[in-house]
Amino acid sequence: MRVILLGAPGAGKGTVAKLLTDYDGSVQISTGDILRGAVKAGTELGKKAQGYMERGELVPDSLIMEIMEARLQEPDCKKGFILDGFPRTVPQADALKKLLQKLKLKLDLVVNLDVPKEVVLDRLTTRRTCSNADCQEIYNIKSKPPTADGKCKKCGSKVVQRADETEEAITQRLLTYNEKTAPLIDYYKKEGSLKTISSISSQEIVSGITAAIKGK
Ligand SMILES: [Zn+2]
Repeated sequence: MRVILLGAPGAGKGTVAKLLTDYDGSVQISTGDILRGAVKAGTELGKKAQGYMERGELVPDSLIMEIMEARLQEPDCKKGFILDGFPRTVPQADALKKLLQKLKLKLDLVVNLDVPKEVVLDRLTTRRTCSNADCQEIYNIKSKPPTADGKCKKCGSKVVQRADETEEAITQRLLTYNEKTAPLIDYYKKEGSLKTISSISSQEIVSGITAAIKGK
């Protein structure tokens, strides 16, 4: 399948994307992953991207699109791809549309994961992450707590709340999402490829997506 997943931070895009890749062998593609991949592989595009990242600047859309173009042509994309958190803005959506036309690839579906703000806040503010950069195991103080003294069960390092996962930071991220990304929902509605799924169960969301694709 070829799918775009839209949804606020904490809506569960990553979890749903993983379940979809298990379902039919499509690959999960996020902007962060492909940038890191290109940098690691040391490609020309990767070196350019690294320059921006090291200077703490945003990688420009034109470069992201070039890296995306290369990524979508790799052999593992033959079975399909799940774009997780990309595009983020209407200009990126326009660029992606042109790229898919150029590569003669047709999207099956754009999915809007519609999860209430309280659920997102609860999910993200209860998350904790292992502070060991080589481990980064994710915990949840309600459903998957670290040890009683706040240590990682895998490596014993301290488990912390990430700075971008405090209630204040998440509220700000949701505002940014609504401003920049939410207009994409109208964009894809007009394109006729949007399906909104309001569920907090990843399994239910995946069933909704596969049923919608089969029904097309
Ligand atoms: Zn750890």
